[in-house]
Amino acid sequence: MNHWQELEHKYFMHTVERVPLTLVRGQGARVWDEAGRQYLDFVAGWAVNSLGHCHPAVVNAVKEQVETLIQTSNHYYTIPQIHLAQLLVQNSCLDKVFFSNSGTEATEGAVKLARRYGKKHLGGAYEVITTTGSFHGRTLAMVSASGQPKHQEPYTPLPSGFVNVAYNSIEAIRAATTDKTCAVMLEPLQGEGGVNVPDDGYLKRVRAWCDQSGILLILDEIQTGLGRTGTLFAYQQHGIEPDIMTLAKGLASGLAIGAIMAKDRVSVFTPGEHGSTFGGNPIACAAGYATLKFIIEHDIADNARRVGQYFTKGLRNLAQKYRFITDVRGRGLLLALEFDRDIAGSLKMACLEAGLLVNDVKPNALRFMPPLTITRGDAAEALGVLDKVLATVPRPM
Ligand SMILES: *Cc1c(COP(=O)(O)O)cnc(C)c1O
Repeated sequence: MNHWQELEHKYFMHTVERVPLTLVRGQGARVWDEAGRQYLDFVAGWAVNSLGHCHPAVVNAVKEQVETLIQTSNHYYTIPQIHLAQLLVQNSCLDKVFFSNSGTEATEGAVKLARRYGKKHLGGAYEVITTTGSFHGRTLAMVSASGQPKHQEPYTPLPSGFVNVAYNSIEAIRAATTDKTCAVMLEPLQGEGGVNVPDDGYLKRVRAWCDQSGILLILDEIQTGLGRTGTLFAYQQHGIEPDIMTLAKGLASGLAIGAIMAKDRVSVFTPGEHGSTFGGNPIACAAGYATLKFIIEHDIADNARRVGQYFTKGLRNLAQKYRFITDVRGRGLLLALEFDRDIAGSLKMACLEAGLLVNDVKPNALRFMPPLTITRGDAAEALGVLDKVLATVPRPM
């Protein structure tokens, strides 16, 4: 253990099994450790650094804002949050925005909004249907919403009001809908659950069911949104529109921010019913505005689509070569390789040794979520490292 690792063990709550790597600097798709060693970053702050590390558009926006106005509270009007809200509305199917500081706060707020709607328009309906394998955040309520036993079991009893049903099954949603249901909340593609892509038509059928039942559809686009899956928002690939959408991760390319967006008719909060001290603060919103503007003006979503296709093709070639690869899946630059055995942890460490950062999203699956600005050259470099590392996996007896 080095100096920093010892200090971390002494002072920090042990909530995460860290990789033994201390990062001190980042630029574009590259990060550097204390010894000056360079890594190609296909984790990107957990699908956060959408424009890469320290992108000049973001750095300049933050520098300018930090010298001008840092925090005021939402008791007053501030300009960066209005700029960002306007740009989000102009480029999505939603009409209104609320800013939070994280993804969890955004999904939690979306559920509060759905409950307010339920009280006003659905006879007090409050239950939200979510799916197994989903991830909506870490507060107690969002742990209850996220259909993953490993996140739920340590904290039972959980807050009520959520029903977890099978992902990719419209029948399961139908069967779980009662007169208590106010909304269905889904990821268009499950990120933390293992990069699970639903069948074509699933989201369309869920949308139709919500319309037919008069309940709301909340899309959690915290990981899939802002270009990650090859379009600005993932819902655009499914020919549907959500009533409520949550964003966070890539929105400010590294600064902490989250957003709830909603259609006008669903924006039923009245003053005092929801709020945040730091949410919508000038620095996060200036970074968000600079990020979103850059993503739109340079069609970064399309870069994610094109480089993602190239990278997927390379992963498929690896799957031809290494028969223990059982699946290649994902959209844009949110991709995964699955194996017939639990080697993702050791492959992650081998990639690290070879200068590539990747995530072992499941014991038998690696996830790739690089900056959306990577080039084919970056993707080719990552494929080269993967090829080398996969070649060292011993053949089964
Ligand atoms: C990461 C994530 C969250 C939680 O966001 P935090 O910023 O970690 O609170 C919620 N939903 C999805 C889909 C996510 O990927």
